[in-house]
Amino acid sequence: MSFRATVLTLYPEMFPGPLAVSLAGRARAAGTWSLEAVQIRDFATDKHRSVDDTPAGGGAGMVMRADVLARAIDHAAPEGDPRPKLLMSPRGIPLTQARVRQLAAGPGAVILCGRFEGVDQRLIEARALEEVSIGDYVLSGGEPAALVLLDAVVRLLPGVMGNETSGTEESFESGLLEHPHYTRPQSFEGREIPEVLLSGNHRKIAEWRLAEAEKLTAERRPDLWAEHQKAEKTK
Ligand code: SAH
Repeated sequence: MSFRATVLTLYPEMFPGPLAVSLAGRARAAGTWSLEAVQIRDFATDKHRSVDDTPAGGGAGMVMRADVLARAIDHAAPEGDPRPKLLMSPRGIPLTQARVRQLAAGPGAVILCGRFEGVDQRLIEARALEEVSIGDYVLSGGEPAALVLLDAVVRLLPGVMGNETSGTEESFESGLLEHPHYTRPQSFEGREIPEVLLSGNHRKIAEWRLAEAEKLTAERRPDLWAEHQKAEKTK
């Protein structure tokens, strides 16, 4: 069964974009996942094909219309479609590796990309959209966010990454940031590869990597570190 992504957007030409190359591109060519970009404007009914209107209550910018978006969503995901319906939104729950993993284990996703000031609240409620943020900053549209989400999901699909274990040892998978990496040459501008990594002692290497990961996480991400310590205590 392959992962099916449908993206609703005013700019379908932005897809597959970067997902046409490398791991994701090869996996799509192999049928591991599929991507359909749906033009929201095709579901407008007035003669100007308008998808947005001025905000109720006044203020700057425009708001995407609930009726037009509902028609687009119902076309892309008719009743009974098992895929989660996501709305990329800076107000959403921040995307995590845990959510990415859940999505990758499911049948796919229907992803709505906002533009302008955002979308009519009634649409979010009526179609039970899950609002997802990719971070605390504001993009001009949901498209780059959808590309980020799909990139993170697709690399976890079965067979996409050559080395299956590389998916589970990375940053966030254990609640820690990853340890540093080194490769040849052994000496670079007077900097050597840490001795222990050349020792061949696998237990020592694992201990060193864990210690580095813990140090880095404590320094850079006190939020993750606190979570990790809580989880270790209840183990
Ligand atoms: N007025 C809104 C911002 C709208 S930005 C606010 O202040 O919350 C326009 C669109 O870009 C949004 O509808 C959303 O789809 C997308 N977007 C912007 N920032 C995002 C983020 N951090 N994560 C996910 N989507 C984002």
